[in-house]
Amino acid sequence: MQETRSTCPYCGVGCGVIITSDGQQITAVRGDPAHPANLGKLCTKGSSLHLTAAPALARQSRLLQPMQRLQRRAAPEARSWDTALDSLAAQLLQIRADHGPDALGFYLSGQLLTEDYYVFNKLVKGLLGTNNLDTNSRLCMSSAVAGYKATLGADAPPACYEDIDLAGCLFISGSNMAWAHPILFRRVEEAKARHPERKIIVVDPRRTETAELADLHLALQPGSDVMLCHGLLHIMLAEGWTDAAFVDAHTSGFAQLHAIVREATPECVAQVCGLALADLYLAAQWLAWGGADAPGSNSERQPTLSLYCQGLNQSSSGTANNAALINLHLATGQIGKPGAGPLSLTGQPNAMGGREVGGLSNLLSAHRDMANPQHRAEVAQHWGVDAVPALPGKSALEMFEAAADGQIKALWIACTNPAQSLPEQAMVRRALERAELVVVQEAFAQTETTAYADWLLPATTWGEKLGTVTNSDRRISRVRAAVAAPGQARHDWQIGVQLAQRLERHLRPGRPSLFAYDTEQAERGCEAIWMEHRDSTRGRDLDITGLSWALLEAQGPQQWPLPSGAAQGRQRLYSDGRFATGDGRARFDAQPWKPVAVPRDAQFPFSLNTSRLRDQWHGMSRTGQLGRLFAQASEPSVQAHPQDMRRLQLQDGDLVQLHSRYGSLVVPVQADAGLQPAQLNLPMHWGSMHLSGSTVDGQRLAGVNALTTPERCPRSKQPELKHVAVQLEKAELP
Ligand code: SF4
Repeated sequence: MQETRSTCPYCGVGCGVIITSDGQQITAVRGDPAHPANLGKLCTKGSSLHLTAAPALARQSRLLQPMQRLQRRAAPEARSWDTALDSLAAQLLQIRADHGPDALGFYLSGQLLTEDYYVFNKLVKGLLGTNNLDTNSRLCMSSAVAGYKATLGADAPPACYEDIDLAGCLFISGSNMAWAHPILFRRVEEAKARHPERKIIVVDPRRTETAELADLHLALQPGSDVMLCHGLLHIMLAEGWTDAAFVDAHTSGFAQLHAIVREATPECVAQVCGLALADLYLAAQWLAWGGADAPGSNSERQPTLSLYCQGLNQSSSGTANNAALINLHLATGQIGKPGAGPLSLTGQPNAMGGREVGGLSNLLSAHRDMANPQHRAEVAQHWGVDAVPALPGKSALEMFEAAADGQIKALWIACTNPAQSLPEQAMVRRALERAELVVVQEAFAQTETTAYADWLLPATTWGEKLGTVTNSDRRISRVRAAVAAPGQARHDWQIGVQLAQRLERHLRPGRPSLFAYDTEQAERGCEAIWMEHRDSTRGRDLDITGLSWALLEAQGPQQWPLPSGAAQGRQRLYSDGRFATGDGRARFDAQPWKPVAVPRDAQFPFSLNTSRLRDQWHGMSRTGQLGRLFAQASEPSVQAHPQDMRRLQLQDGDLVQLHSRYGSLVVPVQADAGLQPAQLNLPMHWGSMHLSGSTVDGQRLAGVNALTTPERCPRSKQPELKHVAVQLEKAELP
């Protein structure tokens, strides 16, 4: 038996795991006691990883060789890798020649490793000449990225997990971290048990398991987060609870924000958010003074740490939500010191690593911006290409909308399942039908999206992959292979490299390869990619030029930045009061509150929220294989307030029909007194693979995204997955 240290492939906590295997087969997994993210603990999903890798399950579920469909919906036929890659290179070049590079679209995943991301980013933006590369991180973290950049000047979470142990007040907003980030929540529980006098505020329309731990639960109305933050700042200013010295010395733009929050009177905020005045005052006091009941002087201020996730991000005001929360930290000087600061939680295991290499359509390597000509020139030089195109790329939904309109002709999808996970499924499926070429690079043979693929390319997955990931507190960890890839599966970066080498023969004939990474010696090839990424960070906010795989091997996971000459990574940022803006001052982001894009009305009187379960992950490609992970919820159900259930004469388990402007869905209903009247909640995990669904535009749809809206934040382009106005009625059964 052998043991291999690696990282859990599920959420952004980034827990270290130790895999036991006999070289052929993974037999056990346990938490890595030496990993700072989890100190040996694993949640139900992580501790079941070895079971999802069992050979019997793998045989049933894995894609094991390249396959081609000669006609849509025909049975796919096996092909060799050479045939597949030669053919795909030729088709991409033909589409590029006929329609231009922007007729190509690449849609990747926050579950890919940093090296996978790096290669595809360079291939698409550097070699093919289009910025149409986006990822499912757009659904997850793009509002957090935009919020950090708007206020602090860089996409860099300034706090760290250790701050949970030190904070006098934890402000948890838009996150049921008890289920979505269980091991980090355990740290919150332990800190509270050690220090019961410390305060926890949870902001969530639902009374979740996270809210059960709170000293104060602010059950606000969906979409009122900006109003809440403005109201809290209004109270802080009125009571003299801000840190005027910090604001004067280290920030800019406070006057503009002040003009907006002046209007957010406590009475107005209480009405819009549906909260009690006394709760607003208490929250403002705790947040400003780090949980202290009696405000004192600045020197007595205890630290406040904010933890937040999709409730803020998945909103048509996603960037404003993030910025409004960061404004509170800046106004009170609650940043850059132990136990204080905003700390966004990443949903996916490597959403952070993807951002580091520029894995969104508006980003470039090492947190550079596509819109900045100097940044484009720097990256072009680093990659060895003539130029990076200036035309902005399409974000996730824009890419599928362009394919549905016939502008994008080829969709290359890696390690994600847009035919379940994107909103407005009717449009997404039209896009997949209409595209001339759909390539799905996947570990699993059957997802909603593989059904649309002209080509299926088998990829490696957890236990087989190698490379690096970065978790929510900027910690880079190694991912290591415990067993060999099954069948003909290849690493995602290898597929990208082997495709790029074929494309180069036509696009850069006679010139040295830009993708000369060793695909035979995977560890060596992968490290070379990482080194190239590392070198692109020199002088940037995430500088890791002092890091190496040897150091990761010797000393374990490391936080960025870790520039050349530094002994270790930096735990928290901005401790010197200098921010990543041009003048070193953080910027207050002054945005007025806006309600949800499409509020509920007489026709659609309920607000439907989407959520995660503790024991399932995304579209269940992996967790859905294990019976034990259905113990928490064996089937999807929409939760409704008991009062609404009574009014509609519904009992637990009754089938109900949900209608939105975009589609409809039949699911069982269950009463949940943790919701408020006129609010509904439905887990995101089930799709048409699992549910019978209904028909929209001739398409059979199921899962919550049959209902969700394509409305999105104008700044981050992140869709409003946390609210859609729906109608609820008892289903009429034939
Ligand atoms: Fe994996 Fe997240 Fe659970 Fe840790 S908390 S074991 S990273 S799913």
